[in-house]
Formats: sequence, structure tokens, C-alpha cells
Amino acid sequence: MSLALYNKWRPMRFDDVIGQEHITRTLKNQAAQNRLSHAYLFCGPRGTGKTTCARILAKAANCLSPVNGDPCNACAACLGINDSSATDVFELDAATYTGVDSIRDLRDEAVYAPSELRKKVYIMDEVHMLSQSAFNALLKILEEPPEHVMFILASTELHKIPATILSRCQRFEFRRIERRDIAKRLMKVAAEEKIPLADSGALTIAHMSDGAMRNALSLLEQASALSGGAALDSDGVAKALGLVTAEVLLNCASLIAAGDAKAVLALFAAQYESGVEPAGFADRLMALYRDLLIRKTSDTDVLIGSGYTADDLSRLLPQYAPERLLFSVKTLRDALLQLNRSPNRRIDVEMALLALCRPSLGGDYTALAARIAALEARVAAGFVPAAGTAAPAGAAGAESPPPAANPGAPAASDPPAVPAVPAAAPDAPQPVSFRDELISALRDTLDRMTYSYIKTCDILAGGEKLILRAPDDMTYEIVSKRKTLDAVAETLAVLGRPHRVSAELGRAAEAPSGDGAAADGFDELLSFAADNPDIAGIR
Ligand SMILES: [Zn+2]
Repeated sequence: MSLALYNKWRPMRFDDVIGQEHITRTLKNQAAQNRLSHAYLFCGPRGTGKTTCARILAKAANCLSPVNGDPCNACAACLGINDSSATDVFELDAATYTGVDSIRDLRDEAVYAPSELRKKVYIMDEVHMLSQSAFNALLKILEEPPEHVMFILASTELHKIPATILSRCQRFEFRRIERRDIAKRLMKVAAEEKIPLADSGALTIAHMSDGAMRNALSLLEQASALSGGAALDSDGVAKALGLVTAEVLLNCASLIAAGDAKAVLALFAAQYESGVEPAGFADRLMALYRDLLIRKTSDTDVLIGSGYTADDLSRLLPQYAPERLLFSVKTLRDALLQLNRSPNRRIDVEMALLALCRPSLGGDYTALAARIAALEARVAAGFVPAAGTAAPAGAAGAESPPPAANPGAPAASDPPAVPAVPAAAPDAPQPVSFRDELISALRDTLDRMTYSYIKTCDILAGGEKLILRAPDDMTYEIVSKRKTLDAVAETLAVLGRPHRVSAELGRAAEAPSGDGAAADGFDELLSFAADNPDIAGIR
């Protein structure tokens, strides 16, 4: 991460800190009234200003001519802290300083009065990394702190800090910074730095920064370095950072509305090859659908995406019903949730796009992926879609791609060579096709007893949920243990079939053989696959 801009533009006074007014106001008041505590804990996400505020607080505690609680940044104390030459302010990174000995040294040393400043200040970053014995040593100092010492602890993981420590610190929780506040700050920095950043470009960066000013300034620096001086509007930022541009997004949404899956996948493939991250693509597309949905259902104009205008949205809106917009947001959100654990993000995003093009395939994209897996199994086993329902054999010049395998095979009348895969109704849980694969993978993961019980369960899936259905109380008690469910979920993720796992008691009703309901999307998918062999052959 490039941090030159971040370091240069680090706020020097409480008033300059963005988006944490609830904290800076209190600290400023305490400093102005000389009521500063001897121990603070700053917690919250990375890049939201914890260390910055700690430094300002160190100055506020030592400044020789403070202004309403803010440091002056001009006296000897402030200057010494600003250029890190002050010998009484210590910045420690607990990640490299975890041992009890270091904390004992610190404790022995802290009792001596400061050499130049009014207060010795210990700023300890990532304090949750300390070992238990180091925490105990730290606790001893916090219990009876010398008058001249101040501790400022910072952490991204509050839950790892012992309650005994928490109870002796004043705690401040830093929030992710609002996108608009980040964009405003970026515009200010860009103006000073003569970077040609436009409002839309600032919003695009703010959108990507996850509420952290450090990320935002680092991205601005990258974009500015990579743009070669070109204007940084939304598209300029997108191009420089390898993001999908608003124009491509709008085009994609239009193609999806038309159900043109082939064109959508081609568009995505071109983006992917030009370096666009699948997750970034899905994320921006989701933001677009969210904005469309908001615009369709309410009068507000608060857009979270960037680079497109309200007019752009108005042009797209007639192509979408509200339900389909909602479905699109959910589908992309679910896909994004799975992406972290996915072995192949490109395929996952392609599946999601495919589902967006064909919402009639029902439910969610996990169901779709399952159906495609089933379809692949059938194709691999030589199954050819029946002429009547699928590839329109009589259509002009129709040259259905795979039939060379067995010309004129009576596919419809003969029993299929592979056991029929039940085509799931989207919501009713169905036995999974990968049961054997899962069970054999679990053999290595679970203890023998749990393994022997889990083998007796029905394994069903509905949407992204996987259910272990235990035949009796004893089995249920064993398989429903948190540890077991977690182990199964992990194994599923390793197999590339991420699911949420739960257990229930009771025998499955006879699994429906499902030909009645099967005439829904599955046949449509078969015919779609026959029409588009390049897409069905994705893997
Ligand atoms: Zn000062």
C-alpha cells in the first residue's frame, strides 16, 4: 500500500479528523478542561484514524499552548511529537512486542519521570496481540499508574482484550467513515496536490475504501500514478484501478434485462481479461441494482454507486420490474458472500450473471449451480437433450452441437444411462448429488464415532443451506454439535460447495422423484445449454 499521501495528509488536530466527531469532541473537551484519563482504548476497523487520534492526544496532553484542547502544532512539545523526536512518546506495535518481558521492561521504565515533556505517552497498536502474561503485567501498571504516564491502546479486535484491561481504560469506538465524508476529504487533498480528481471519481474511490481514509488516500495515490495525468472522473479512476466502468455496467444491466446471457458472459470475459476483478465487478453491479431498486420504489435520490446519473438509471428502469431488481441484488449479494471462500471467482460470478439473465430458473444461484452440475454429469454420461423439448432440431440450420456422439439416439423414450437427478423445486430441500464425495471427505476430518453416525443421516440441500437429517435422537445429538456442523461446513467449502450447515431430526419423506415439478426451469436450462455449448462448457 502506498502511503505517501496518507502520511502527508494525516490530520494534525482533533478538528481535522474526519468522521469521528463523537470521539474527537470528547477528547478535545477533556484536554481543554485538563481532565485527561491515564488510559484510553481506541478500537475500530483499520484505517479509521485510531493511531492518528492517539498522536493528536499525545500532543494535546503535552502541548505548551493548546487551543481549546487542540494541540498548537507549533510549540517544542508538538513539534517533537510530530517529527517523532520526542523521547517521552513511545509508539509500540504489540504484534512485535507480545512478550511479558517487554511489558515488564516498560513497567520498570515508566516509573521514571519524563525527560522533556509533561507526560510520558505509550501508544500501543494492535494491543490484542499481547500474550496473557503480558496483559497481566500491563494490568499492574494500569491499576496504579504513575501520575506522569498515559497509555493509549489501539485495537481492531476488541473481543480479544481481557475484561480486566477494558475496565481500566476509557473506551472509544471508531466508526467506518461515511462515503461522502471520504469523498469530500479526497477532493480537498486532490486540489492541494493538483490531482485532476472529479466528484464522481472521488465517490468511486470512497466506495472502494470500505470506510477507511487510509485506503482511500492510498487508492487516490495509485489512481493518480497510473492515470498518466488523465482526468480522474469515475471512468478514469475505474480504468486506472482496474475496475469496471459505469458505461460497461449500464450496458451489462441492459443486456441482462434482455436475457442475452451470451452477450453478458462475453462482456464479463472481456472485462476479466482486461484485469477487472470478478468481486469488484459483482460489487459494482450490485450497487447499480441497489440504486435502481431504490429509484424504482422511492423518491429518494441517494445513489451509492458512482459514474452514472439519475438519467442513466431512468433509461434502464422500464426494463426491470421491482421483483427482478430485488432478485438481482440478492443474487449478487449471495455470490459476493461466497466469493471469499471460492476456489474460482470467475466461475462464481459467471453463474450469478447467468442467474440474473434467467430469473425464471428460480430461487437462487446456488440452485442454478447445482442444476448445471447435474446437467454436466448427464452430458458427460452421454445424455442428449430430447429433440422435442430442447434443441429445436427442425429450426433453420440448427446444428445441435453434441449429437455426433449418438446420432438419432432415442433419448426421450429410453431410460437415461445415469440415474435421474431429481430436479429440485427451489425451496424444498433435496438429497444432494455429492453425498458420496462429502462422506468420503469427512472420513478424514471427523472422529470415527461422529463419522459413523453422520453416515446414517440423510443429506439434503435447499438453496445455500445443507441439512443433516438424523434418523434418531442419538444421531441428532452427535451431528448437531457445533463442532461437527463447522467441520462439515469447512469440508464443503474445500470441496467447492459452500453451504450453511444445520442438523434436524426425523426421516425424510420419500424423496420426490420430481418429474411433475421438473418441467420448470430445468428443461429451459437444458435447451439453453444446447443452444449455447460454449457457455455450458464453462469449466
Ligand atoms: Zn503545542
